[in-house]
Amino acid sequence: MPDIATPRRPTAVVIGASAAGLFAAAALADYADVTIVERDVLPGGPEPRRGVPQARHAHLVWSGGVLAFEDLLPGVIDDVVAKGGRLVDIMRDMVSRAPNEVWFRRFTNGYHRNLVCSRDLLDSVLRAHVLALHSVTVRQDTTVLGLEGTASRVTGVRVRTDDDESTLSADLIVDASGRGSHAPRWLTALGLPVVTEREVNAGVAYATRIYRAPGTTANTRFPLINVQANPEKAPGQGGIILPVEDNRWIVTLSGTRGGEPTADPEAFRAFALGLGDPIIGELLEHADPLSDIATTRSTANRRRYYEKLPAWPDGFLVLGDAIAGYNPVYGHGLTVAAQCALAVREGIRRHRITEPGTARALQRAAAKPVAAAWDLAVGQDAFYPGASDTPPTAAERFLARFVDRAVETGASNPRALAALLDVMSLEKPATRLFSPDMLRPMLIGPRKPPLDGPPITDAERRAAST
Ligand SMILES: Cc1cc2nc3c(=O)[nH]c(=O)nc-3n(C[C@H](O)[C@H](O)[C@H](O)COP(=O)(O)OP(=O)(O)OC[C@H]3O[C@@H](n4cnc5c(N)ncnc54)[C@H](O)[C@@H]3O)c2cc1C
Repeated sequence: MPDIATPRRPTAVVIGASAAGLFAAAALADYADVTIVERDVLPGGPEPRRGVPQARHAHLVWSGGVLAFEDLLPGVIDDVVAKGGRLVDIMRDMVSRAPNEVWFRRFTNGYHRNLVCSRDLLDSVLRAHVLALHSVTVRQDTTVLGLEGTASRVTGVRVRTDDDESTLSADLIVDASGRGSHAPRWLTALGLPVVTEREVNAGVAYATRIYRAPGTTANTRFPLINVQANPEKAPGQGGIILPVEDNRWIVTLSGTRGGEPTADPEAFRAFALGLGDPIIGELLEHADPLSDIATTRSTANRRRYYEKLPAWPDGFLVLGDAIAGYNPVYGHGLTVAAQCALAVREGIRRHRITEPGTARALQRAAAKPVAAAWDLAVGQDAFYPGASDTPPTAAERFLARFVDRAVETGASNPRALAALLDVMSLEKPATRLFSPDMLRPMLIGPRKPPLDGPPITDAERRAAST
């Protein structure tokens, strides 16, 4: 019998076991043996950990993310829901004031379903699904220190566990280590050029407190309450009530430079009452706090244009917040992380992992979902004073005015709102805003007058005030 050599299965190392790392592992699992390297010791259930401090704040998963999560990990959404998460009909079950201070009407025939739960619950379910895949293993309590290889090929990572340093070799290294990623420095250490970065920082601070769901709101379809900041009236201040599992409300308040919320418990509800509309503060009147107040300023839009570097090493890829972090008020990071992983999976269906040029093609593919979220966030935030070295361009101003009109139209027309949500949820590109569903009602004008207050029913108010 001739000796037929079995081709070796490719190997991949993913740095970081948060959302982007888990999605990347899921995308690679059919094509490679994947080792996730994580600095933290991972909890067995829905518990906080040091490496994901943002988990204390409200996290909303838009419908584009829900679809991408399910595509990568079939059954994962049902599992989150079985553990207390909620799939929310966002057109019906969100009371929302837009940045231009228009209240959206609530409609009953929507098709967008957002996932609402605590980030700890979401991460624990994602971990359980990914770590159950036969080709995925995790090395916890292990820190990646740098890359091994040359400017033309990355061959592994240097890792430290306790006091022991060693090298892990792989055909593909994926950096999903978040906003604090050292990839730019690691690449220049290999002799590659400096990557271009852009930052647009509205100076948003977040303050979050968890409450017991008040009155008789527990176990009901109580709506999400969202008051968005108006970029034209700096400081921009907003807030959200997210009713999550275990009958809790996650309440996150936000403010830009000069109008930031603080960790002072005495000031929390007063800040909510002082927003452009007092509804969040009013609904908190009978809610008992269950936690201290967590704050963060890690909210700047920051993008690294890896796809534009003139040279790129084989065997290396950057994903998730390590490519771009967005102002979290837009709630896009998780959706982009999953959509990037889908783009990677699509890419490795066509190119072998070990083929020269594959990593560069994957990095370019990941830039597409990144750009969609980036343009939406920066299109708003560039208007805050001091947000960017370069003022908004004429095109950005035109687009911002058009989006304002689209929001106004969507606030009272269900077809236009569906088009707007297709874009905001990252299900469709921004060109959807120029479809007849939007343009027709925009030209004809609103059939109903704008609402003069939040569309919350008396029954919902009463439920929260007993
Ligand atoms: C305040 C806030 C609110 C947000 N709200 C939303 C929201 O509503 N909706 C939404 O979609 N997104 C939201 N986001 C964004 C979301 O949190 C991120 O997009 C998401 O966590 C994906 O990030 P990531 O996996 O790329 O990185 P991270 O979540 O930052 O995880 C990085 C991981 O890498 C590990 N790590 C880091 N360095 C090393 C190393 N050297 N070696 C080994 N391991 C390492 C860390 O321990 C961690 O596990 C929010 C972000 C913030 C800051």
